[in-house]
Amino acid sequence: ASRISSRIRRIKPSPSAAAAERFAALRREGRDIINLAIGEPDFDTPAHIRQAGCDAIERGETRYTPVAGTLALRQAIAAKLKRENGLDYSPRDIIVTCGAKHALFNALSVTVEEGMEVIIPAPFWVSYPDMVLACDGTPVIVQCREEDDFRLTPEALEAAITPKTRWLVFNSPTNPTGTTYTPAQLRALADVLMRHPQVMVLTDDIYEHIRFDDVEAQHLLVIEPALRDRTLLVNGVSKTYAMTGWRIGYAAGPEDIIGALDMLQSQSTSGVSSMSQAAAVVALNSAPTFLPEWVATYRKRRDTAVRLLNEIPGIRARAPGGAFYLYPHCGGLIGKRTPAGKVLETDNDVVIHFLEAGGVMVLAGTAYGLSPYFRMSTATSVEQIEEGCRRIAAAVAELS
Ligand code: PLP
Repeated sequence: ASRISSRIRRIKPSPSAAAAERFAALRREGRDIINLAIGEPDFDTPAHIRQAGCDAIERGETRYTPVAGTLALRQAIAAKLKRENGLDYSPRDIIVTCGAKHALFNALSVTVEEGMEVIIPAPFWVSYPDMVLACDGTPVIVQCREEDDFRLTPEALEAAITPKTRWLVFNSPTNPTGTTYTPAQLRALADVLMRHPQVMVLTDDIYEHIRFDDVEAQHLLVIEPALRDRTLLVNGVSKTYAMTGWRIGYAAGPEDIIGALDMLQSQSTSGVSSMSQAAAVVALNSAPTFLPEWVATYRKRRDTAVRLLNEIPGIRARAPGGAFYLYPHCGGLIGKRTPAGKVLETDNDVVIHFLEAGGVMVLAGTAYGLSPYFRMSTATSVEQIEEGCRRIAAAVAELS
C-alpha cells in the first residue's frame, strides 16, 4: 500500500515544471533546443526593485513578519487595488502569500469539501484542476470554443452551475489562450452569477497588465460590486514586475476567508520571505515606467509568432488580447505520418514530433483541457520565436 495520501495520489506534477526539467535534461545532453514552453517573463526584475531587496537585507529585515504580510506591503497592495483597479480594500482585507499560486491553493483548501464543485473554464492554467482535487473537490471543466476566442460564455456558465458549485475560477487574461473580456462580456457573466448566490468567484488577475487590446480593462468587481462578499481576488507581482522567483502573491476578500487563510498560514508557512516583501513594496509603490515597453515587446513577439505560424499548413493561430502565450490549433497535423512512419494521433504526438524532429519545445493542449492545440510562449526573443517557427515549419514539412 502506498504511504502517500489518496488526496495527493489524485494529482499529477505540473506539466510546465516537467517541461522545464525536460528542457534542462536535453540541454545537458548537448541538444540544441528552442524553448517556447516558458511560463515567466524573460526580463530581469527592474534594478530599483532588486536594490530594495538588498537594502532590506542590509537594514536587517531578516526576521519573521506578521503571518498576513508586513503592514507596509498590505498598504501598498491596498493602494494598488484602489489606483489600478478602482477597488477599496483595507490592509485588513488582504493576505500576502507565496506567489498567487499559494493564494489559490490555500483559498481552495479553506473553502472546499468533498462533493463540492469548482467550475474551471477550459483551456485552463494546468494547476487549477489538480489544486481542486488535492482539496477533495470536484473540478467541473467548461469547454470554451476557439470561435468565441476561448471565452467563457454566460450560457456555458449557467449550464455548469449546480447546487454543489462552490467556486468559479476566473482567469483573465487567460493562461494559455491570452483571452480577455470586455466590460459587456463581464456584465453578462455577472448577471449569471447574481442568480446563483451559492457560487463564489476566485479571480486570478496575474496577467492583468499584459494586455494588447484597446478595450478598457475592468475588474469583475467593478462591473458588479454586489459580488464582493463572495469574491476572492488573487494577484501578485510575478508577471507584471518580472518577479517570479521572489514569490510574492496576495489575496483580497471577505473577512471570513482572509481570516481562514491567515489561520492556515499561521500553522503552515508563516509569513512570506521578509526581503521579498520589502522589494514588493517598492515595486507596487513606484511607477512601472518599464511596463509600456515590455508590453510593446510582448505584442511584437505575438504578432511575429501569429504571422509565422499561420504560414504553416495544418496550423492556425489567433492573436490573443493579453498574456504571453499563443494557443494554436494543430488539427491539420493529426493523422499525418512522420518519416519514421509514426502517425500523429494527438496534440501530444505533435509536440513530441516538434521536439524530436525540430528541436522546439511547446506544450500539448491536452494538459490545458482543449485539444488538438498546443501552447507556445512568447516570453522569449523575436529571434528565438522566428527560429522556433522555422523549425516547426521544417518539422511539419517532413510529414506526409
Ligand atoms: N495564475 C496563472 C494563470 C499563472 O499562469 C501563474 C504562473 O504561471 C500563476 C497564477 C502563479 O503565479 P505566482 O508566481 O504568483 O505564483
